[in-house]
Amino acid sequence: MSTTIKLDKIRNIGIVAHIDAGKTTLTERILFYAGRIHKMGEVHDGQAVMDWMPEEQEKGITITAAVTQFMWQGHEIHLIDTPGHVDFTIEVERSLRVLDGAIFLFSGVEGVEPQSETIWHQADKYQIPRLAFINKMDRIGADFFAVVEMMKKKLGARPALCQIPLGMEEKHRGVIDLVRMCGVVWDEDDLGVTYRDVPIPPDMVDEAALRREELVECVAEFDDTLMETYLQGGAVASADIERAVRSGTLKLRITPVFCGAAYRNRGVQTLLDGVIKYLPSPADIPPIKGFHPTSKEIIVREPKKDAPLTAFAFKIMMDEGRKLCYLRIYSGTLHAESVVFNASQGQKERIARMFHMHANSRKRITTARAGDIVAVVGLKHIRTGDTLCDEAHPIVLESIEFYEPVISVAIEPRSIADQERLLDSLEKLAAEDPTFRYRFDEESGQTLISGMGELHLEVLVQRLTREFNVKAAIGKPQVVYRETITRPVEEEGEFAKEIGGKMQYGNVRIAIEPLERGKGIVFLSALDPGRLEDEYIQMVEEGVRSCCLSGGLRGYPVVDVKCTLIDAEYREGQSTPLAFRIAAASAFQRAYEKANPILLEPIMAVDVIVPEEYSSGVIGDINARRGRIIEILPRKQIIEIRASIPLSNMFGYSTELRSLSKGRGTFTMQFQRFDELS
Ligand code: GDP
Ligand code: MG
Repeated sequence: MSTTIKLDKIRNIGIVAHIDAGKTTLTERILFYAGRIHKMGEVHDGQAVMDWMPEEQEKGITITAAVTQFMWQGHEIHLIDTPGHVDFTIEVERSLRVLDGAIFLFSGVEGVEPQSETIWHQADKYQIPRLAFINKMDRIGADFFAVVEMMKKKLGARPALCQIPLGMEEKHRGVIDLVRMCGVVWDEDDLGVTYRDVPIPPDMVDEAALRREELVECVAEFDDTLMETYLQGGAVASADIERAVRSGTLKLRITPVFCGAAYRNRGVQTLLDGVIKYLPSPADIPPIKGFHPTSKEIIVREPKKDAPLTAFAFKIMMDEGRKLCYLRIYSGTLHAESVVFNASQGQKERIARMFHMHANSRKRITTARAGDIVAVVGLKHIRTGDTLCDEAHPIVLESIEFYEPVISVAIEPRSIADQERLLDSLEKLAAEDPTFRYRFDEESGQTLISGMGELHLEVLVQRLTREFNVKAAIGKPQVVYRETITRPVEEEGEFAKEIGGKMQYGNVRIAIEPLERGKGIVFLSALDPGRLEDEYIQMVEEGVRSCCLSGGLRGYPVVDVKCTLIDAEYREGQSTPLAFRIAAASAFQRAYEKANPILLEPIMAVDVIVPEEYSSGVIGDINARRGRIIEILPRKQIIEIRASIPLSNMFGYSTELRSLSKGRGTFTMQFQRFDELS
């Protein structure tokens, strides 16, 4: 791919959706039509190019975000395929962080499902312009307009229909393009490579005219020329509509809607045309904002290749023992074999080689510029969320918000050799996945790994065995609780000891008090300015935070506590930062014990979809699990039940739901909040 391509001819996009909507199927088609792959693999054969990990091929689902790029109509498109399962939400979150636009894929039968709702709101948070593609128009039960209604109701979206299906279910043949006012059909016998314009079938002419009228009405406000013609009742030009749709989409006011059937090879090329026409290039998005690492002053960088470098590390993968780091370049130019400044960590490192990635294969490149997404090797210390830049022009971009793990399992290596490999492997897995944690439990002598859900841990355990050759016995999944306090307490802590002939002295008084759920740990100093040097105050904070990693009640992480440093005694010649750290820790531990600590348990948002006749059984079961029904939404013949249920009562739920609904119910579950353990 060329490095001379203009910024406005680049698209950084992702495809996001609920599991099984057809993301991988669609991606295979896209790569096939763009000439990036020469054979189309099907998900259910475990042959899809983008699902390259063995775990992905086995389960037929996408787990790790994979990046690729291809050319379409003279544009360079960087595409990130993302997983749909909630256990891997972090993959979606970090993709959204670096994308400029997204395709939201919905199944034409199931419509807007819970996971798409979650991702929709994530996309709102990151202000991502998006297109909708309503897939599976060929399936029995497909209902395009019902899905459009769901988009309005469940997502609060304003859909702008650029297409409607040309036939649904077994009559599906292609699409009607409402902008150009013609039909488009695909040939059956060459994998959808050839497609052509056809006249709108006579029985659909009225409907198409009506829908086009609606489209114009929906987007007229975004383009003056269109507005004028529309108000005067004249014939509307396609180019005017396109300009209006683009403008409304970039302003996040509308969502252009496309449709097709990826599996039947229909609607893919017209969707790609839509990506080019309506989704933003890196030049269309607002310049990236960050701050100076020391002065904290806000810095804005334009997406120009001759500006100082700003690159964001959004993903790290271990590759033959080395870190392969994915970067989004926001400004400037990056060269292979060059030294960059990691402003998040304050250190310089050398980039060895640089690549454009295509799933798990790669092409070496020497330079990359603003707007690009590349992978580099050679950075040993890089972490997900770090910013790379010029040392002379330092900038730090906001990191990615990570989720805290809620479930853990114990791992017992089978032999000493396995034990040795285990720690090394866990470290590598944790470098890749910020939602994965591990720790050694002194009491039980076990290693505990924790993550976002049963599937997440299952995949990690499989990778330990396969990629890292660690043989181990795995325990039962356990809930990771949190601890917090219920009343305010003040305590003093002192450390006075002679170490190596020198006196070490520290003395602090702290106050701890409960905070609202979700506030985390807050540390403040209420000392008068100058009472204690900043370096000492920082060590007091460190002492407190280290205690919060493992609470005094049951060893779970402590959350929602405010800790204030209210007094300190400094002795010239004796006080050291280390002594203050230890004094602070002992003050905190003593205060904590007196503050009535309690356990908090993770509560999950659970969404069950079942045929009506099984609903009472399912609801009864939710009540028996200490669940609370939030909402019951009836749809055609099926109902959706939304509930919140403690995670500890959700183990084995899929088996139970299967038996309660004769295999016809499905559910998704996602962390919602921590609540007092009753
Ligand atoms: P993902 O989980 O979103 O990646 O979905 P997949 O691409 O794995 O698709 C899930 C299933 O739906 C697979 O069995 C596909 O063959 C099937 N599928 C995808 N698109 C279509 C479509 O347009 N029509 C029909 N009938 N099936 C489809
Ligand atoms: Mg997939």
